[in-house]
Parts: sequence; C-alpha cells; structure tokens
Amino acid sequence: MDSLTPERRSWLMSRVRQRDTGPEREVRRLIRSLGLRYRLNVTSLPGKPDIVFHGKRKAILVHGCFWHRHRGCRYATRPKSRLDYWDRKFERNTARDRRVLAELRKAGWQTLVIWTCQLQSSTRVMQRIVKFLADDNNWRGRTTSNS
Ligand SMILES: [Zn+2]
Repeated sequence: MDSLTPERRSWLMSRVRQRDTGPEREVRRLIRSLGLRYRLNVTSLPGKPDIVFHGKRKAILVHGCFWHRHRGCRYATRPKSRLDYWDRKFERNTARDRRVLAELRKAGWQTLVIWTCQLQSSTRVMQRIVKFLADDNNWRGRTTSNS
C-alpha cells in the first residue's frame, strides 16, 4: 500500500509543516514577494496592526474568519453548544475590531482587512494589497473597502 520510504515520508511531513504557517506570515510573504517594505505589529497604534506602511499611513490587518466573524463566510461557523459563551466572545471580538478600525481612521490611517479565507487566492490578495497601497489618501477622497 504505502510505497514511501521513511526518509521520503519525513521529508514530505517537514514540507507540510513548513507550509502550514500562520495567515499573517502568508500575507507578509506575499508583500515581500511584491518587493514592498513594511513594519510589523506597531504597538503604538490601536490594535497593533499586523503590517504597517508607516510613510503611507496605511495598515493591514489579518483577520481570522472564525474569531473575527467574517460576515457571510462559511468559516465563520457558530458553535453548537455553549452559545451564550461564544456569542459573548464573538461580540467582544467584533466590537474591538470596530473600535480599532475607527481609532486608526481617526488618527489618519487607512486600513485594509484581509480575511484568512481570501488567502486561498494569493493573486487576488496581492492585487488588493497593490491597489490599497497605490490608492492615495487625498486622491479622489475615496476610502478603501474592507469587505
Ligand atoms: Zn472568510
């Protein structure tokens, strides 16, 4: 049945582990592949955004669909038990997200939220990042959609 040698199997397993990195790391990798420079988790900013482009006053936040309740997303499932507990937890998380985004905006920062389900298409995520960074604050007076 299993034709893999132990060496081959452990090599494959190590590859799997390497690829199994967090979504923030994946977004950072995409940004690096675009040749862009950024800062990580700037603690002086509301919500410590995952990735910060200081000169542009732009911040990227990577949100897990489950914990941050990506609306309409199939990964934002609702647990079947302890509903009160989960609803309170989700409400706290989303209220915090709203507050953080509002505080950043008030401080003159533009934000882009990347949901982890969107990382399934790295091309589209890269296009969104490029568009987000290219859009100028004072240019057409447009805000970047977070949805
Ligand atoms: Zn999602």
